[in-house]
This record gives sequence, structure tokens and C-alpha cells, in this order.
Amino acid sequence: MSSTTPNPALPGATGAPLWLLAELTYRCPLQCAYCSNPLEFAAVKEELSTTEWIEVLAQARAMGAVQMGFSGGEPLLRQDLEALVAEAHRLGFYTNLITSGLGLDEARIEALRTAGLDHIQISLQASDADVAAAIAGSRKAHAKKLAMARAVKAAGYPMVLNVVLHRHNIDRLDAIIALCDELGADAVELANCQMYGWAHLNREGLLPSRAQLEAAEATTARWREQLTERGRNMRLLFVVPDYYNERPKACMGGWGAIFMTVAPDGAVLPCHSARMLPMSFPNVREQPLREIWYDSEPFNRYRGDAWMQEPCRSCDERHQDVGGCRCQAYLLTGDAAATDPVCSLSPDHHLVEAARREADTATVEMVDLTLRNVHESRVFCRD
Ligand code: SF4
Ligand code: SF4
Repeated sequence: MSSTTPNPALPGATGAPLWLLAELTYRCPLQCAYCSNPLEFAAVKEELSTTEWIEVLAQARAMGAVQMGFSGGEPLLRQDLEALVAEAHRLGFYTNLITSGLGLDEARIEALRTAGLDHIQISLQASDADVAAAIAGSRKAHAKKLAMARAVKAAGYPMVLNVVLHRHNIDRLDAIIALCDELGADAVELANCQMYGWAHLNREGLLPSRAQLEAAEATTARWREQLTERGRNMRLLFVVPDYYNERPKACMGGWGAIFMTVAPDGAVLPCHSARMLPMSFPNVREQPLREIWYDSEPFNRYRGDAWMQEPCRSCDERHQDVGGCRCQAYLLTGDAAATDPVCSLSPDHHLVEAARREADTATVEMVDLTLRNVHESRVFCRD
């Protein structure tokens, strides 16, 4: 976006939310040590009912939202998932299911297809069962995921795999891509884990070193060449960890600009990580979505650029990256309005440089990671 292009995050220019992420539940059979769910997810005991979710979908669509993702936790744990997909399809949303694949079978894939689901993305933890078990806390999950990836493809969906990379699996990237190739994937997102939620808690045990990252980028480039030579159409998207960039990403395209998450209990957030910020968010049980999006204080707090501090406030790049990520700024500095320390112009950039140095010498083993489960989560619950 050039500095003369209107930015939807600017005051007075608030457009409709285009994306709705429906986090149907925080329940999940897996325990990924990098999960982006809030640390205190165990405190959320109530979930919106089917009727309430249908009302959320209708309100979001009436506001202009066109794309929606069903995620969690594990959205397949909701027995009403097919009904919600059918309603989203009827309303005209393009729908995406973001799943671990656990809870899926051929019958359910068929039911979701009949309901009108447009797209399924399955996550893989590793190329082999041992690493997958260590990082996600389940010995059986890996084989099940592979079977469900094949079943999704057989049902006529493009097979889109998401592999979260970290220091314990990134050196096996060659085998991971080979597995995706063998499975017949159409696209693979090689997403280095970003340091929010449980990943931030486990950062020392997850952040790869620069040498690991460079080797992985070289492996990806080599695979892209091989795939092209073979005429194999498998798209590889490599997402670099924020910590190895010198400029932050324009997080969510700007706070409250195009993206809206509804959490399992109805809390409405500008992104799925924002719940850990020291502010309270409105709830669809108490306020219409339209009012929350356009008028609520939390959704307006970081819109535009008036809230920015130096160096962002007078920076020419502020309308391109909107000062970066509020969650990352808060996690690293304790101030959600600070410049994202990923930026090399930030006075706090040394914190990111220190994390990179730490990654060069870290000795945390996989068994030392804190897994995301109810027991561990209760440690962070306030009551
Ligand atoms: S990241 Fe892992 S633990 Fe978290 S919701 Fe996804 S599958 Fe479950
Ligand atoms: S100082 Fe702020 S606006 Fe400028 S590049 Fe860095 S994060 Fe972006």
C-alpha cells in the first residue's frame, strides 16, 4: 500500500469487516506447544449456542463480511459444525475449515461438502509420528491426519496443508515437504510459528536460529525448482518468523480494519490473539456486531494513527505497516501502543535481537516445552 492509498484503518474510513473468524470452541484433543489460543483458555467454560452462532453469521454477513473461517480449538468437536457451515453457505460466505483433522472421517467430509463447505485446511506437526507426538501431545494424531488429508483430497477438495515450523522440526523440512508431495498436496503453508499465546510462553524452545531459518529457506527454494522441473503443481508458501524481519507486518491489515474474530464465548476481537491484551472486549451476547465494530472503544482504540507513539507517529511507513502488531508490542514491552519491537527503528528492537541471540544457543528440548492443555491453562486463570 503506498502512503497515498487510503488506509481502511484510518479514522472516518472504517469499512466493513471482510473476514470473520469463528472460533467455535477452545476445546481441542491436541496440546500444541505453539497454540495461539489464550493462555487462560480454561477460564472460558461457556460456548455460544447454535442459535447464537447463526445470529452472529447473519449479522456479519449483513455488515458485508464475505469470507469466514471456522476454527478453534478444534471446530470438529462442535456437533453443529455442519449446520453452521450450511447456514454460512446459504448466507453467501466463502467458508474455510481450519482443523487438525481429528474428529474427521469420510462421512463427515461428505456431510460438510453437502453443507457447502468451500475449503479445508489440515495442520501437520511434522514428517514423523515421534516429533508430532512430542509437540502436540498425542501419539495417534499423526497417522489420523495423514489419512484425513488423503480423504479430503479424495472428496474433491484441494488439499491445503499447514505445517507450523519451529526449531525442533525445521531441520527436517526436506522430509516434511516430501511427505506433503507424497500425500498429493496442492498447497503447503510452511508457517514458522509466530510468538503469541503458548508459543510466546515456549519461545526459547521454539524460535529457530538464523542458520536453521536460512537452511530451511534454501530447502524450500530447492523444492520449488524440483517441483517446477517435474511439472508438479504444489504451491509452497514459506512464512518467515516476525523475529527475523526488520519491519513488522501490517498486522490484520490494521486494527479493526478488515478482520474480526468471535471467540467461543461471544467475545469479539480484532484478531485471535488480542484476548491477552489488558483490555476488555465487547460480547455479541450484549451488543450487536455492528455497534461493536464501528462504535466500541476497544475496536477504535488503535484505528488510524492518532494513537501512535514515536517513532511511528512521524514515520513515512506508518500507513503501510500500521506500526506492526499490538499483541507483539504488548508481549515484548508491556505497552500495547508501543512500536512493534520487530521494527529496527523501535527503541525496543534490542529485545528481538536478544531473542535471536538466545535462539543461537538455546538448549530447550521438546520434552521441556509446556503443552497447551487445561491443566497448564489453569495456572494462568485469574479465578
Ligand atoms: S494449535 Fe494445536 S492445540 Fe491449538 S487449537 Fe490448533 S490443534 Fe488444537
Ligand atoms: S517506526 Fe513504526 S511506522 Fe515506521 S517502519 Fe517502524 S513500525 Fe512501521
